[in-house]
Amino acid sequence: MNVHPELLPAIERFELPDELGFGDTLAPVMYRLDYADGAWGEGQLLPYADISIDPSAKVLHFAQVVFEGLKAYRGEHAQVKLFRPHMNAARFNRSCARMLMPELPESLFIEGVSAVSACVAPLVPGLPGQSLYLRPLMFGTQPSLGLAPSDRFTFLVIASPSDALITGALRVVVERGMTRASTGGTGNVKASGNYGASLHSSMAATDSGFNQPLWLDAREQKYIEELSAMNFFAVIGGELHTPGTGGTILPGVTRDSVIALAGDLGIPVREGRIAIDTLLQQIRSKQCTEAFACGTAAVIAPISVIGEKDGAMYELAEVSGPVANRLRDELLDIQEGRAPDRFNWLYTAGM
Ligand SMILES: *Cc1c(COP(=O)(O)O)cnc(C)c1O
Repeated sequence: MNVHPELLPAIERFELPDELGFGDTLAPVMYRLDYADGAWGEGQLLPYADISIDPSAKVLHFAQVVFEGLKAYRGEHAQVKLFRPHMNAARFNRSCARMLMPELPESLFIEGVSAVSACVAPLVPGLPGQSLYLRPLMFGTQPSLGLAPSDRFTFLVIASPSDALITGALRVVVERGMTRASTGGTGNVKASGNYGASLHSSMAATDSGFNQPLWLDAREQKYIEELSAMNFFAVIGGELHTPGTGGTILPGVTRDSVIALAGDLGIPVREGRIAIDTLLQQIRSKQCTEAFACGTAAVIAPISVIGEKDGAMYELAEVSGPVANRLRDELLDIQEGRAPDRFNWLYTAGM
């Protein structure tokens, strides 16, 4: 890996703003790796700066681009700890394979997220809820307007010293019109096109007083899938239910961690179909007591109400209820180093 001579001065000059926000403050560093002629080049750690791209680059026309999101936390002795980065590396390669992009060796993905985190260690905020949010991404840069896969790619890792993403309790609206993902599509990978396509419903949701749409399966519009960037959980009869992966939902690292923690805490977990109409009745009858969404950015966000576009509202009996709170505290305690890392989830960043 090459380190640009201007990088360290740029990091030293950098001052964190008083208000970080989430994803708004960009660390003064980026990792770049280019792929051409069938091979990856050498990683470069550079000062954060504009990149130049040919207007005919494939990514701009055909969305051959995938991304990841993970967090690093300030640990003891100025160490920086990444949360489960190997899971993100594996998912990144599943996204690449689906989008006909080259595999990125795990060691290079880890080199990128690790070097970026370690070199800005003094800029990793350490208050509860704060983190360094990392955004790896890869896109096709071949200049050509023909519909064909790119033959060259750029992998970047950028990072954002961030506050907790405070979502408050989420009000979600059942999306019975548009869909996010269909069988055989790209819903189970982090392809950027999925997110552009979700914005229309997201705007409609906020315009009608909700925070986000709750997506259903595209085939029957009967089963709950997830939110636009968070997985869905409900507590029904004391058990934790979540839609199963293997189809059209994105297998979240947070989802996986919540399931592992619940198992460890003796909370029964059921992965499988959740019919929306059944769930709404179970909320009415108070058999379903809690619902929450989870993802790297928000960690665990309680859902206060599931609404229909026709105005029907289904309010959860417990918002930020005992199960969601317990799981959230357990997860944050491990991530922020207050509890032993009993699942071996933390990885110390280094250059
Ligand atoms: C990223 C993402 C999630 C959450 O995944 P994490 O690995 O927990 O951050 C859930 N759903 C979708 C659609 C996503 O893009």
